[in-house]
Amino acid sequence: MEKQGEQEYGESQPTSLVREEFAGAKIYENNSKSILNRATGFIAGYDFTLNPYRGCQYGCSYCYAAAFSPNPKMREDWGNWVIIKQNAAEILEKELARWYKKHPEQPPSIYMSSVTDPYQPIESKERLTQKLLLVMVKYQPTLVIQTRSPMITRDIEILQQFQRLRINMSIPTGSEPVRKDFELHSPSIPSRLLAIGKLKHHIACNENHQARFSITVTPLLPILPEDQAAFISKLEIADRVVIQEFHPSNERSLVASTRQEAVELKNKYAWWYKNEQENYRQFKKKLVAMLEPTGIQIMEGKAGFSYD
Ligand code: SF4
Repeated sequence: MEKQGEQEYGESQPTSLVREEFAGAKIYENNSKSILNRATGFIAGYDFTLNPYRGCQYGCSYCYAAAFSPNPKMREDWGNWVIIKQNAAEILEKELARWYKKHPEQPPSIYMSSVTDPYQPIESKERLTQKLLLVMVKYQPTLVIQTRSPMITRDIEILQQFQRLRINMSIPTGSEPVRKDFELHSPSIPSRLLAIGKLKHHIACNENHQARFSITVTPLLPILPEDQAAFISKLEIADRVVIQEFHPSNERSLVASTRQEAVELKNKYAWWYKNEQENYRQFKKKLVAMLEPTGIQIMEGKAGFSYD
């Protein structure tokens, strides 16, 4: 029988001992050698990515980050484990100091986070993302935060102090039943919309503080036809709306980096996926018609994830 604290996924590091269980997930911790990683691919325009955690309790069915799990067993169990990078704040301080030694006049641009959500449930207890913000605010990088959690509003007072900040709130569908199917453990759509409204209200945008707010409808998941207009009108709260197809409609659609769960969902939503490209095109058309006259930026894919 497994002993308490010795539940291992086996095969490879770094899943030594479970520290605790939190909100249904096994929590591990380790020390990282580095915390700022060179940004590549979709977000190559940034100097670094910053991921306070490895793994993500939201466990979205379509998440490509599952493919970077430490071993196949953990990939299958995506959403049920998190590794806390416990020395992250200390390492970040050293790495930012080193950057400014080499580039005294050039603040780095940082994207937090690319393969985890910095405000997943364990953050409410661990406050690791908050500790990283407190380090970063001293160094004033250009910072983009990508999350789907209203927990980010907890840190408004720190966020107010950044000079170049963009907050991207992920809301890939306007239909709650779809959200519950694809991202069972994520916060509700209304709570995310409320959060971005609150952030925008409390974080000043002026000549000293350039704060920007995006809603990333990425990847665009099915949206029930009756929900589309109401959803689009609520997106007016943002400065920028980003859309992106998950994959083109082909055999690999929605399965490229994900698990069996996503394949089954694709079958459930065949009414959308059979005609995915056309549904995307129609949704974009409505978005442009309703939001462009209000001055909101509508962007697609990689370009939409830039700070500027
Ligand atoms: S919140 Fe982001 S990182 Fe976490 S499971 Fe969902 S898509 Fe993946």
